[in-house]
Amino acid sequence: MSCKICRHSNHADMLVLYALSDSYRVVAGRYGVSAKTLQRHITRCVYAVMEEFEEQQYRKFLDYVFQMLLAEFTPPPKKRPKSIVTKEITYTWSRRSWKKKTNHIAESR
Ligand SMILES: [Zn+2]
Repeated sequence: MSCKICRHSNHADMLVLYALSDSYRVVAGRYGVSAKTLQRHITRCVYAVMEEFEEQQYRKFLDYVFQMLLAEFTPPPKKRPKSIVTKEITYTWSRRSWKKKTNHIAESR
């Protein structure tokens, strides 16, 4: 971005006049530059800036959409364990078998 028109003090006014008149010759005649230089400036320098701006806008929009999706997103629920017993059971006495055992002990005495 360093052509003759970029360094010109009135390059912003030139762009405005070009947008209004849509003619390289009108602008070139008004500011005393060649129409070809002006054309090169608009097709290279100005479009490069516009592309960059559009890219920024697009990235902002993408970021916005991403934030919206993230707000909508809820993670899937974690699987709960099937049993409330977490420790492995090695051996248990049922009431009946405990009674049998104590009866047996009582009889042997
Ligand atoms: Zn330029």
